[in-house]
Amino acid sequence: MNTFKVKEFAYRGSIENLSKILTLENVKKALVFTGKQSFENINSLITKQFDMCDVMYFNDFSTNPNDNDLVKAIKRIDFKYDIIISIGGGSVIDFSKAFKHQKKDKVKTIAIPTTCGTGSESTQFAVLYKNNEKYSLDEPSLLPEYVILDSQFVENSPRYLKACTAMDAYCQGIESYWAKKATNTSKEYAIKCIILCRDNIVKYVNSTDINSASNMMTAANLSGKAINISRTTASHALSYKFTTLYGIPHGHAVALTIPYLFDLNTKIEELNLLKELITDNPINYFHELYNDIGLEYNFEKLHITDINKIIKGINVERLKNNPINLTEKDLMKLLGVQTPEFYNTT
Ligand SMILES: [Zn+2]
Repeated sequence: MNTFKVKEFAYRGSIENLSKILTLENVKKALVFTGKQSFENINSLITKQFDMCDVMYFNDFSTNPNDNDLVKAIKRIDFKYDIIISIGGGSVIDFSKAFKHQKKDKVKTIAIPTTCGTGSESTQFAVLYKNNEKYSLDEPSLLPEYVILDSQFVENSPRYLKACTAMDAYCQGIESYWAKKATNTSKEYAIKCIILCRDNIVKYVNSTDINSASNMMTAANLSGKAINISRTTASHALSYKFTTLYGIPHGHAVALTIPYLFDLNTKIEELNLLKELITDNPINYFHELYNDIGLEYNFEKLHITDINKIIKGINVERLKNNPINLTEKDLMKLLGVQTPEFYNTT
């Protein structure tokens, strides 16, 4: 089943389509969710698109938005909008989806990502936190009607942000490919995503190169399309506690466990293609990649002291989608390689 009825504008400078969409949809008042810092950098490119309508901007929510942020937004936004636009990273797009869901709005939405990572613009789910626990909304009405992928927004992002978000896209591509719920269509998206990430991630993170930024933006979008069908697996299941307990950004958190899960999951013969496409020595490959893009992977240096808490807090639903069934004990062994005692005994 192809769930994609989204209208996409994807080229450098494609933000010019925003005013055209607003005219086409006869928009008089637009509600616009943005990030705080990220929006300042691109403000001048966006605001001129709103010449024809009234706009209310809203950015008062946390980096990992929670249910209190949502309550606050619903109280404060009394503006009668006829479209919802989100301009920002995955959290901003997710927050706008959660807002629409909560309000039971029928208005159309436009998603304009300013990071290349989550692919949230192409998914029907939204991640939010409640009492430090992550929860997901998941329904077709959350898929935006319009998506603008303008790579000029991601060329000059800070290096660490680029590294985190790009690794999220890469991991989503990989996890989607091996997910139990993968289909032929999701695998096609995943393979294209993986190849683009493999070939562009280092240059994208370490330079302002236009082509690699554009390729990574496409990769992130494909990763969203892939997981919209297949969902994610063990690395994502494990990631949320790294974020809530240790404040590690989502993409970085996912990247921490993918080397070990890649090593384990690709023991399944049907997943040989992943070894051919990426590596048959995943621990070395990923750790070298992390050195190249400036991501710390040593748990001790990241002050991750309690692996037990990470494993106890795992998202069971996502874990079930992993190609190999994993118990808590398996995970302990898998992540235990990061403890110094283990290094001493091997
Ligand atoms: Zn992700």
